[in-house]
Amino acid sequence: MFVCPRCGNKEEKYIGYKNGEAYCRKCIIFSGEEARDVPHPPKKAPLSLAYKLSEEQSELSRKIVENFVKGVDTLVYAVCGSGKTEISYGVLAYAISHGLRAGFALPRRDVVIELYWRMMKAFPNNKIVAVYGDHHRRLEGDIVILTTHQLYRYPDYFDLLVMDEIDAFPFKGNDVLIALYKKSLRGHCVLMSATPSKAILKEFHKKNHEVLELMTRFHKKPIPVPKVSLSIPLFQTLKIIKKLREYKKEGKPCFVFAPTIVLCESLFEKVSLAVKNGSYVHSERPDKENVIDDFKKGKLDFLITTSVLERGVTIKNLQVLVFHADNKSIYDSSTLIQISGRVGRKMDSPNGEVVFFAQKQTEEMTDAIRKIEHYNTFL
Ligand SMILES: [Zn+2]
Repeated sequence: MFVCPRCGNKEEKYIGYKNGEAYCRKCIIFSGEEARDVPHPPKKAPLSLAYKLSEEQSELSRKIVENFVKGVDTLVYAVCGSGKTEISYGVLAYAISHGLRAGFALPRRDVVIELYWRMMKAFPNNKIVAVYGDHHRRLEGDIVILTTHQLYRYPDYFDLLVMDEIDAFPFKGNDVLIALYKKSLRGHCVLMSATPSKAILKEFHKKNHEVLELMTRFHKKPIPVPKVSLSIPLFQTLKIIKKLREYKKEGKPCFVFAPTIVLCESLFEKVSLAVKNGSYVHSERPDKENVIDDFKKGKLDFLITTSVLERGVTIKNLQVLVFHADNKSIYDSSTLIQISGRVGRKMDSPNGEVVFFAQKQTEEMTDAIRKIEHYNTFL
């Protein structure tokens, strides 16, 4: 029987034959240039951080290094906004200074790009490369930041692989991506998640690897607990308009999440008649990077968005509204938690408002609220 050497697939329906040779159709799209085996001499990796890590962050950072040295994998279970990226810098610096190959993988390219710029600032003396979609001219560096889709370029490669947002689409539950991740790792990993599945927690406990928890945000303020506003979609639109006017007066920027591209555009059409100086983004808008950039620079007051902005965006004083929050196929509880976690991430503006607009309250909404309340009890 044919078993794919790359992704482990052995299902007949995904096996093709060419000139009598079997090949795997499940992972065939993952082919292209692979990283070279270039020498990695130990290098200094001085850190340059704009602020000091909290005591809790430093403690976790130290434990991760300790585990890595002992050959133990770590799962970091950390709430959004707790600064979990920063607590991986210590182990990355350790790897670089010992001549080891280090990678940082994430499911989505926009987050890879954002992290690339942050890492460039944090490790000013080291070579950081970003690898994603059509951006893969340079594959080797002191730290490789890449989408999980690009892991196929690194078979049996990383001595240290940090993976964030392991609970996120498209990585979550994707057998091929999970196989590529396992294949690229020859050393030890640090996995991070705000909403780890029961399965992964169980796997980690069973294997005697360590689960570390970071349940407070670095500024020690609670995550805003979402409010729920129930009404039919027409009234949801009117209430959103009212909220946006309030925020505009108070100078607070706002994200309005909509579940689909169609709803995103139609909501913008209506809202923009009543509130000026906003825009919308979704995966198919060609100039979305410019729009997001304008919003970050404060040129726009509000942005209506699909889940393209669900993760990895930090904006001062941000407020969040969710339209059709009862759309169960898009808004499961972990997505709602991520969305709520957009708010209050900055030290100087830790408070903010999150409102779920819906016709009826779903279990997912209730679960998200309950989990956020639970996180806040750790304060
Ligand atoms: Zn395969």
